[in-house]
Amino acid sequence: MMKSITFNQLQLRLLLILFILFTGTVCSYRYFIELPKLEESIAKLSEREVDTLSFSISSNLNILSRVSFDYAVWTTTYDFINNPSDDKFIQENNVDNTFISMEIDGIFYLNKDLEAVLVKGFHHIKQIDMDFSFYDFDKYPENKSILPPAITENGAPRKTGFINTQHGPAIFSTTQIRDSDMNGDFRGYLVMIQLIEDKFVEQLSKYTLTNITYQEIPPKEELSRLPNWDDKTEKIKIKPYTDIVLRDMTDNPVAVLRMTHSISHIPDIFNIQSLLFIVLISILFYVVYLTLSIIIINPVKRLAEDLKQHDNLKMYTPINDQYMLSELVTVSKNVNELMQTVQEQNDILSQQANTDLLTKLLNRRGLISAMEHHKELCIRKNVGFNIVMIDIDHFKAFNDSVGHLEGDVALYEVATVLKEQCRRGGDTCARYGGEEFVLLLSEMNHSDLQQKLIQTLQAVQGLQLTHPSSPVAGHITISAGAVMIQPSDVVNFNLPLNEIFKVADNALYEAKNTGRNCFVIKHWCDLKVNH
Ligand code: GH3
Ligand code: MG
Ligand code: MG
Repeated sequence: MMKSITFNQLQLRLLLILFILFTGTVCSYRYFIELPKLEESIAKLSEREVDTLSFSISSNLNILSRVSFDYAVWTTTYDFINNPSDDKFIQENNVDNTFISMEIDGIFYLNKDLEAVLVKGFHHIKQIDMDFSFYDFDKYPENKSILPPAITENGAPRKTGFINTQHGPAIFSTTQIRDSDMNGDFRGYLVMIQLIEDKFVEQLSKYTLTNITYQEIPPKEELSRLPNWDDKTEKIKIKPYTDIVLRDMTDNPVAVLRMTHSISHIPDIFNIQSLLFIVLISILFYVVYLTLSIIIINPVKRLAEDLKQHDNLKMYTPINDQYMLSELVTVSKNVNELMQTVQEQNDILSQQANTDLLTKLLNRRGLISAMEHHKELCIRKNVGFNIVMIDIDHFKAFNDSVGHLEGDVALYEVATVLKEQCRRGGDTCARYGGEEFVLLLSEMNHSDLQQKLIQTLQAVQGLQLTHPSSPVAGHITISAGAVMIQPSDVVNFNLPLNEIFKVADNALYEAKNTGRNCFVIKHWCDLKVNH
């Protein structure tokens, strides 16, 4: 037999499978589609942040380069190099405010022979004088690399980059000193310096909208892995920060800057949205579960319980057919119709089982159940009743002389007459077996019963059913034995019916012996001493 499960179990399993599928889909979508996209976006953002840093640094270099060019390619400067004793130039162009407004920390005028003509170091934030020595090319020959190539054609070559000074790393810009129209020989170089200090780094942070900090210059091996500030950034993997190196013209590191990226962690597979989604799905499934339980499962259970209860109580009254689902209404209506049919069939069967086919009277089974019922009623109401047992006289002989079929007809007619004697409510007539009948008569006194029996005997004789071989009369007669049970007898009355029948049968026997076509009445109260 197939193993059955409850509707609730089925529902739970289906919802569990759906839940696993949903959660699996959410996780897979997030893991295989959403997260890689997010990771790519974060990597792109980091890449853009590094590009912005490079752009900011190059902007700073450009500004310094432009300022240095403005000063270098200017007739006044050009003339000053020829005549370095020009105090007016020095007073007008090398004042502290120039450093502060241009945010530079050093201006160096060198002649063609790389000799310092006019130099001034001035910390534009702290506003203090500073000495610089990087332009002492005898001492630092490698610093010559800050000089642009000496081209004498039109134009003013310049060079911008980073340099290490005794005050730390700095950006520099060197421009050939040329006349304003850029004709004539070049007369030397103008070098401008801006120290890479906190303010410089703060500005980079402001432009890039990230946190930029100084880092110690790492050991060579690690340093070699770090990109240069102007390297084209390759696709950056998600990482918390990127270090870039600022190098001087001879490729020596002057500073390492660390950019902390605005987003640096890979998102978790379960973020608040996916958890919320799963929680919502769970709530949804729970609501579905409850709704299905309320709409389908509980009514089906109720229907099943209803049917079980009806069956237990052997009750065939209609079951409740008020349901929300029309299918359940149909089921319960069909069950009611089925029960009605069963009830009708039952009635027919019980009627058939209790009825005698030939006479249409109650048979012995019907009589017994009718008597049980009547006996209970009498006990409850404290009323008496009478049992009369009737037997057709010499019926065997009747059969023998007129035939069995005629015998059946006679039986039927006698039965009809006997039934007519039972007109009062509670009176019953039954075929006890063969040609024997039993009358159950409601309470009456002795003389009334006598009257009744006389009437009955006369009514049978009145049929005038010719009995050719009866020694009693020329037609069919009956004998009767009656038992009277008084109201006083029914108190605590629990005698079995067959005892009563036995007494009635004895009375009948007496009647037969007395000559037939007569009756004998016995009183239960007279006999109960014996019982
Ligand atoms: P008595 O009662 O007067 O002593 O004599 P009796 O001949 O009636 O005696 P008994 O009770 O022995 O015989 C009953 C007869 O009733 C026997 C049987 O042929 C007949 N009989 C019983 N049932 C039927 C029936 O259904 N149809 C017919 N035709 N005869 C029946
Ligand atoms: Mg008999
Ligand atoms: Mg008989």
